[in-house]
Amino acid sequence: NRQWVLVSRPVGAPALSNFNFLESEKPTPKQGELLLRTVYLSLDPYMRGRMSDAKSYAEPVAINEVMVGGTVCRVEVSHHPDYEVGEWVVAYSGWQDYSISDGSGLLKLRKAPMKPSYALGVMGMPGLTAYMGLQDIGQPKAGETVVVAAATGAVGSLVGQIAKLKGCKVVGIAGGEEKCHSAVEDLGFDTCIDHKAPDFAEQLAKACDKGIDVYFENVGGKVFDAVLPLLNPSARVPLCGLISQYNATELPKGPDRIPMLMGTLLVKRIKMQGFIVFDDYGHRYNEFSQDMMQWLQDGKIIYREDLVKGLENAVESFIGLLEGKNFGKLVIQVGPD
Ligand code: NDP
Repeated sequence: NRQWVLVSRPVGAPALSNFNFLESEKPTPKQGELLLRTVYLSLDPYMRGRMSDAKSYAEPVAINEVMVGGTVCRVEVSHHPDYEVGEWVVAYSGWQDYSISDGSGLLKLRKAPMKPSYALGVMGMPGLTAYMGLQDIGQPKAGETVVVAAATGAVGSLVGQIAKLKGCKVVGIAGGEEKCHSAVEDLGFDTCIDHKAPDFAEQLAKACDKGIDVYFENVGGKVFDAVLPLLNPSARVPLCGLISQYNATELPKGPDRIPMLMGTLLVKRIKMQGFIVFDDYGHRYNEFSQDMMQWLQDGKIIYREDLVKGLENAVESFIGLLEGKNFGKLVIQVGPD
């Protein structure tokens, strides 16, 4: 059983030296337990938070413990009446080949699902995040302008496509020409601006000639700086993530612009609301999954996965996620499907 354990807490960007790749015997399930074989492991930005012991909404991973993470697994051995060998389940078993479960917290997938790994992306946590954050907090209306960054990523790609289905004008923001091209050509966004371009803020202002009604915040930093002056009166800002800050060790230097932010929120009556997907919207999973399944079947939503083979590549791939190296939902193929 191969496992990635956290051996030290990263300061700044995570490094390979913060982890150990251990190998041990396959665990043996007792009566009432299951042996799960990890087939797919989801890598997500929130994991950077779990590597840190700064106060957060969830406990950090303890030193020398296996890194946490959502997985799609097959039941390899079952001593549990509710599970058969070979069944597919969604688990939270982390960065390892095998795990033991007593069945609690597992979600059964239908028999022989077409794309089991989709349960970690478009049909899972990132999908629910996009669907609920955009619709419940963003409240997009036809004809409005919706802006989303990390536009080709797991969440952003779905936010933009749902906003298009609602009749909005969608402006994506992504890193590099290839991603921007794909946001328009493959995902159907109206336009997509490269945040690495020197005149990024000017380009964004030009693309949003009627201002911004909904800004779905995934990244923060200089992207938010460019968005703020463009927000319309009564704009909504679902505050989903701030990935540009996840490796930061201190607050950015420079003048304190909180007064400007507060003034803008007040005068323009802007609503900005943070959310933590499962805490706030876990109970609405069925509503989301019905709509999303239908959209996928009808070809209305395009989903791109960045599938990396081999558990041994998990750390390197995760480091890449925080540098924009992934193109689509990052998933590690751990075992054979
Ligand atoms: P993505 O698949 O979008 O991958 C991350 C992307 O973020 C990168 O590919 C890169 O895209 C972009 N990025 C990384 N660093 C920077 C930077 N410094 N500046 C600008 N962009 C950067 O990840 P997810 O879709 O899984 O997550 C997107 C956001 O949603 C994250 O902030 C995450 O924490 C948040 N989230 C929040 C949840 C909640 O409950 N609140 C639940 C799920 C996700 P590019 O190359 O285009 O810049």
